[in-house]
Amino acid sequence: MSEMRFDDKVAIVTGAGGGLGKAYAKLLAARGAKVLVNDLGGNFQGEGKDSGYAESAAREIRDAGGMAEANGDTVATPAGAAAIVGDAVKRWGRVDILVNNAGIVSASGTLATVTDEQWDNDMAVSASGTFYLCRAVWDGMLERNFGRIVNISSGSWFGMGSAVPYPAAKGAVWAMTRGLASATRAQGKDVKINAIMPIAGSRMTQLMGPEIHGLMERDFPARAVAPVVAMLAHDSTPCNGEMFTAGGGGYTRVFAGVTQGYRATDKDWTPETALAQFDQVMDTTGFHIPEGSMDEAALYTSDVPWEAFKA
Ligand code: NAD
Repeated sequence: MSEMRFDDKVAIVTGAGGGLGKAYAKLLAARGAKVLVNDLGGNFQGEGKDSGYAESAAREIRDAGGMAEANGDTVATPAGAAAIVGDAVKRWGRVDILVNNAGIVSASGTLATVTDEQWDNDMAVSASGTFYLCRAVWDGMLERNFGRIVNISSGSWFGMGSAVPYPAAKGAVWAMTRGLASATRAQGKDVKINAIMPIAGSRMTQLMGPEIHGLMERDFPARAVAPVVAMLAHDSTPCNGEMFTAGGGGYTRVFAGVTQGYRATDKDWTPETALAQFDQVMDTTGFHIPEGSMDEAALYTSDVPWEAFKA
């Protein structure tokens, strides 16, 4: 197989001053992309800012022979997102690849202790930030009929102890990925949006305590996630609207499916019937992965013209 290159491609990687984002930026640049290294430069809880953080990562890439420039705007506001995309367009004319990597864990406590501000902060960076950036590159990608967006979700989406805001924000990222992919598929555009749940030692995994953090840094280095991001950012990526875990040198598909279940034909059925069918409903044999909500609804009946509501 020939080397997967990114020559002449313009990429934005948000939150790329360190950790995973820097690993993605380095790999894309090493393979020819012009990379805008964005980072606000705060701590992992989203406090503070330092424009030197993005600058030092961009310099590291340039010193290694790659093309990179720094940007210190925030992803968490519409103006910040527009400034980030505007910066890349001003320098290189367009955006071909967007990696929505910026994220924080503002709140790791229980529902009872989480403040409104912590909820807002987590949603603002991961969920709203991804939305604002996607919106800012969207028209250009559709007009040129080319774009690759890689959104960074999280395995916390499966549950993360008693934490709520961070998993909720990362769940929104997954839902956005599905919705945007559905839109470009319906329009027949070569704009593909996929997502990953990375697993890597970083300053964020300090939250897990020194022992786990140390093992994560040893066995799950950030560079071992980057190949999946690059594959999804490449012209030849085979998928749209998919999600993968990635870490430690491997990756797996993540999907949401529906079981064969139980389909009552009696509209006046009872809670007792629902309980009686529970084991059958939980059985994953012969599950189906819907492309969208109408596809899922069509499993119940094809008598309704669900197709009309797609796109
Ligand atoms: P990290 O803290 O090193 O990286 C996050 C980066 O985002 C930081 O450099 C930070 O300065 C930047 N950032 C934060 N708010 C920003 C804003 N408003 N605008 C621009 N940049 C901002 O941690 P990481 O582990 O490398 O995380 C990278 C991404 O991967 C995050 O979205 C995180 O939620 C996600 N993630 C990481 C893991 C893991 O195992 N490390 C697991 C699941 C998801």
